[in-house]
Amino acid sequence: MLRQLIGRASAVAWCVLTSVGVFAQDAALPRHAPYPGGVAVVKIGEADSRVLEVLFDGRRVLTQKRAEGWLAVVGLPLDAKPGRQTLHVKAGEDAPKRAYDTTFEIKAKTYPAQHLKISSRFMEPTPEDLQRNERDQVVIARAKNHWNPEAPPSFVLDLPASGRLSARFGLRRVLNGEDGSPHAGLDVAVGTGTPLRAAAAGRVIATGDYFYSGKSVFVDHGQGFITLYIHMSRIDVKEGDTVERGATLGLSGATGRVTGPHLHWAVLLNGVYVDPELFLKTAR
Ligand SMILES: [Zn+2]
Repeated sequence: MLRQLIGRASAVAWCVLTSVGVFAQDAALPRHAPYPGGVAVVKIGEADSRVLEVLFDGRRVLTQKRAEGWLAVVGLPLDAKPGRQTLHVKAGEDAPKRAYDTTFEIKAKTYPAQHLKISSRFMEPTPEDLQRNERDQVVIARAKNHWNPEAPPSFVLDLPASGRLSARFGLRRVLNGEDGSPHAGLDVAVGTGTPLRAAAAGRVIATGDYFYSGKSVFVDHGQGFITLYIHMSRIDVKEGDTVERGATLGLSGATGRVTGPHLHWAVLLNGVYVDPELFLKTAR
């Protein structure tokens, strides 16, 4: 059994918990891809129970009530170690309220390497650049960890622009011969000025012009399911805007750390970047 009851906790602490939102029974789930950079779909409770909150690595996780029971849709970071992982579950609408742990397994995955040459400005940032980046990272971290309790109406995402997929998610990057961070998004080769469309309906939770990412838009789809569009030349939306699937967010460009114009598109679950291709119709 996946579910393992490990104890009871004080009922008092749970009174403050809010509902996890609308049940989206019809939303097709992302594919179970339990490896670093993937998504684990884990049963966390029976359909007649009520799950209030699930934590993975200290972060809230998206949950869904389905006919087969409650499921957690967990984003797995690229640096996750293969092996057994634990979800902390809090459940119970009325007494008895309870807390238990559920485990699942992360499998190993090796992503290919990619060698890149980039301008020295970004390899050797000035103190001003570093200060700017520090400020950027505070804003970016807030957007990445935004939590809206409403369930996403769909897990299906549309590619924001049509073009060749020029760099897949997870590539281990070697920048001018030095190890860099792995590629935490999907690059689409589009020239400057191509309209970029919202991958699904949602709400704009942040826009900005950041040192590394350039002009960027974050769209929240609910329960930590967030899409991010970066290196844009123009932003046509503002924080708080509600956008429909396919709405134009702005235009592609080459702002920030880039080797040329393209869209870098990223998808977040529980604050971690996961492979956007897991949500495209073609991958389902
Ligand atoms: Zn990229």
